[in-house]
Amino acid sequence: MKRFFILSVMTIMAVTSVSTASYGKGKEDKHPWVVDRFDDIKVIRYTVPGFEELPLQEKLLAYYLSQAAKCGRDILFDQNFKYNLPIRRTLEAVYVNYKGDKKSDEWRAFEKYLKKVWFANGIHHHYSNDKFTPEFTQAWFEAAMDSVPVSSLPLDFGTVEELKAAILPAMFDPELYASRLDQRAGIDMVAASAGNYYDGVTQAEAEQFYNDMADHSDPHPISYGLNSQLTKGEDGIIRERVWRVGGMYSSAIEQITGWLELAESVAEEPQKSIISSLIEYYRTGDLRRFDEYNIAWVRDTVSNIDFVNGFIEDYGDPMGRKASWEANVNFRDEEACKRTQIISENAQWFEDNSPVDPAFKKKQVKGVSAKVITVAMLGGDCYPSTPIGINLPNADWIRKEYGSKSVTIDNITYAYKKAAEGNGFTEEFVLRAEDRERLERYGKLGDDLHTDLHECLGHGSGQLAPGTKGNELKSYSSTLEETRADLFGLYYLGDPKMVELGLIPSLDVAKAQYASYIMNGMMTQLSRIEKGKNVEEAHMRNRKMIAEWCYEKGLADNVIEWVKKDGKTYIVVNDFDKLRELFGQMLREVQRIKSEGDYEAGKELVERYGVTVDPVLHNEVLERYGALNIEPYGGFINPDYRLVKRKGKVVDVEIVYNYDYAGQMLEYSREWSFLPSKN
Ligand code: ZN
Repeated sequence: MKRFFILSVMTIMAVTSVSTASYGKGKEDKHPWVVDRFDDIKVIRYTVPGFEELPLQEKLLAYYLSQAAKCGRDILFDQNFKYNLPIRRTLEAVYVNYKGDKKSDEWRAFEKYLKKVWFANGIHHHYSNDKFTPEFTQAWFEAAMDSVPVSSLPLDFGTVEELKAAILPAMFDPELYASRLDQRAGIDMVAASAGNYYDGVTQAEAEQFYNDMADHSDPHPISYGLNSQLTKGEDGIIRERVWRVGGMYSSAIEQITGWLELAESVAEEPQKSIISSLIEYYRTGDLRRFDEYNIAWVRDTVSNIDFVNGFIEDYGDPMGRKASWEANVNFRDEEACKRTQIISENAQWFEDNSPVDPAFKKKQVKGVSAKVITVAMLGGDCYPSTPIGINLPNADWIRKEYGSKSVTIDNITYAYKKAAEGNGFTEEFVLRAEDRERLERYGKLGDDLHTDLHECLGHGSGQLAPGTKGNELKSYSSTLEETRADLFGLYYLGDPKMVELGLIPSLDVAKAQYASYIMNGMMTQLSRIEKGKNVEEAHMRNRKMIAEWCYEKGLADNVIEWVKKDGKTYIVVNDFDKLRELFGQMLREVQRIKSEGDYEAGKELVERYGVTVDPVLHNEVLERYGALNIEPYGGFINPDYRLVKRKGKVVDVEIVYNYDYAGQMLEYSREWSFLPSKN
């Protein structure tokens, strides 16, 4: 529930005043930042400043953890949809072996489709969850399949006929498996979602299963169902297939633990024990072990190299229970850490002074550890699309008793900005010159600080009322949780305390962020939504909800205003102080909803303000945005790391940058693919 994606306007606007303090040194190579473009996607490369300067022991640790991060890619493909692996492998077989006309429209459409499948880790869009529509015909594709050597096809799935019978309808029938994640109110979300977390089970059965399993009196409940597929056997009995060594996905997990063992061998305490405890969890699948690991991990604030590796986030499960596999490896960005240190040191002040009901405030804010990091490797559900901030662990009781670790990823935001330079976005959508100037000056700082506040303080703030379990908000919980964290950040960004702490030079930073946030929430983020569709994704819903709610509540005072000029629609903020007050009021209400587990109020808020799109405005945004030729989504390719040996001894780890998206995807499918086509 605690990932922060870069979706704010700054991601995609021209930035001319990016500080390059930590990037200017060293060799800035001449390669473009955007390495590939297709459909609504741009693929960017990122740099890893500071890696060369790490001591050898840390480089080696990062190296082994990075290898482990590459081993679970197949798991995510299979989690996303049961036929993703045979489909990907068939597409790759055609891509590599096809001898026909590669200048044809069909081939080009096929290549685009494959690039999209790689990017989304499956045949459903990584963000909208809608199934891709191939722009080549089934007949062409079947002929292409027939033309390549049979041995190149994934025959571990079955015969060619069986393979075709499974994957062709999945790819070409628009009615079949239409959405990976369907959370429309009132439907059987489990049955309607194509994700592979449940097999032959209805939503009601899944709810019953976990209700029966849970020990409702346990103050330290495990994350029931987090690491398994729930499946109904031919005997009609519902069981969990646990993702562990010897269980489901074993062959990939064994690879992961193999690399983790090597990482453990070079790690120092406390990290050595932490890695060992993660390995133990992967071996047993025991979620108590996972909690032990998380507690040890969150308490480690000293290790420079850090990592995420496991079944972490539950965004992909309509029931918000089962976690996709993800990984990243990172190390501290010392310079930027000073910013988050100041925020962390003042965490109690922020909690005490927040506008929420005193009953729902934490009396003592524990262990808000926050840092700015440089990622060295992205894997699983962090690749190629990655969050720019992470706050873990997710278990509420651990967060309450041990705190959480919060990071923002600076080299990724930096790469995003570099990739967006000069794209014309600001000129098109920001009406007033003063707003444009403020954005240019303070846009990045405002974005960074909002992310920091969201991650370091927002998610960690507040407490549940006695008797509230934390799972009452069901399918609305992700959206409401992101809303709460965002509001906390927005509210405080405009606080004079920020200037006093030396975090911002003036409140103009907040004005820049407020103007862009509202514009994004009410308008420009619609560029990411297909014509005729509503808002589905949690972060987008949260942004829309905040902006629309504040618009409505501020109508009498004209706080936010729609303006028409030369036939174009703009949204402007007229009163920044009142807007901040509204953020505070809404935060109070959203915290109440979470603390009391008020499902009805949460549902009403999300459904009323966060979901429905005005089709006229939507069309306009799509047209204006389309004219700029900017892809609304971005993702990244990884660098490689190589051991440098002298006389059989490792003397260094070398970083090698990649600029070839398809090349990296094919390499990962060749060298880092460990699961059979049927799981
Ligand atoms: Zn968040």
